[in-house]
Amino acid sequence: MEKNQSWTTEFASAFKDLSELHRFLGWDHRPGISSVAKAYPLFIPQGLARKIKAEGPDGVLAREFLPHESEIDVSEGLADPIGDKAFLKAPQLIHRYRSRALFTPTSVCPVHCRYCFRKNELDAGHDLFHRDFDRTLAYLSGHPEITELILTGGDPLTLSNDRLRTYLAAFAELGTLKDVRIHTRYPVILPQRLDAGFVDLIEEFGERFRTLSVSVHVNHAREIDGEVRARVGLLRKLPVQLLAQTVLLRGVNDSELALLELMEELISMKIRPYYLHHPDQVKGGLHFYLPLEEGRRLYQTLRDQLPGWALPQYVIDIPEGHGKVGAYNPEAYEFSGRLISRRGDLVEHREPQLHS
Ligand code: SF4
Repeated sequence: MEKNQSWTTEFASAFKDLSELHRFLGWDHRPGISSVAKAYPLFIPQGLARKIKAEGPDGVLAREFLPHESEIDVSEGLADPIGDKAFLKAPQLIHRYRSRALFTPTSVCPVHCRYCFRKNELDAGHDLFHRDFDRTLAYLSGHPEITELILTGGDPLTLSNDRLRTYLAAFAELGTLKDVRIHTRYPVILPQRLDAGFVDLIEEFGERFRTLSVSVHVNHAREIDGEVRARVGLLRKLPVQLLAQTVLLRGVNDSELALLELMEELISMKIRPYYLHHPDQVKGGLHFYLPLEEGRRLYQTLRDQLPGWALPQYVIDIPEGHGKVGAYNPEAYEFSGRLISRRGDLVEHREPQLHS
């Protein structure tokens, strides 16, 4: 595949069929995997499939993106681990924290990450947001306390530049939104998405908000190659804040070396590590889970080796709707079994039963 072909062509030619993918990879079809791929469909762009193949069946990219037999074990875990559906206040708009809201204009992604906290909701169809946008705008305009809007999904960069322009223009017109953040996995999965039209869009809207941020979801330095560096480099001189968010994942980046390599790579790309998420207790994704005590010990090693401005915040979404809070406990690694919720209550935290 040509490197400079449009991202939509690469998107359209992504692997969705397990047998085709296995033929391409040249690996054995493991028993039970077909039923996993039926329950949780795969979606892997060809460029990513080439990287997975180069790394091999035991590589971190295979672990992140290929179906695994552990996914079929749904005896533990939650379908909606962070419980944000209760805060849906207008079409595609989740308002949970006073000053910020999430806008989710699509449930379509450039890849299906096997650990995804929305894996029980992801939709392979093009159900892009449509007719009810006026109601979303009306809610935002009636809630001027919302000063930051986070575009997430799915992945908002699945939308065309024109569609994104329509939304950003409407948000800028409101006059109450100071900060806009775009959460996306495209820069590392399908870097061609950072095309000339997107660069124009950032130039156009970077000054219309106090901050415009692109927050790249990236979990391992092996997701980053020359093409990713070059495309992200196109944004560097623009009025945009480049951030990164990472999910701590068993078997992917649960080592000091993997996390440090990733943070250092991000820093050299001028991307600021922003969040390190403790994994969610998602049904079908518990093989990626690790206990909080282990996460805290790893985070401590990062604290010792990174400057404060390059240290991501280690956060956990307390299951069942208690919200996102700091996961690091500087006084003790030993986890007491309770977390302090955003309201200041002590919340019992049950670790899931992990099957090795
Ligand atoms: S890109 Fe994000 S929303 Fe989409 S599958 Fe991956 S983690 Fe989930």
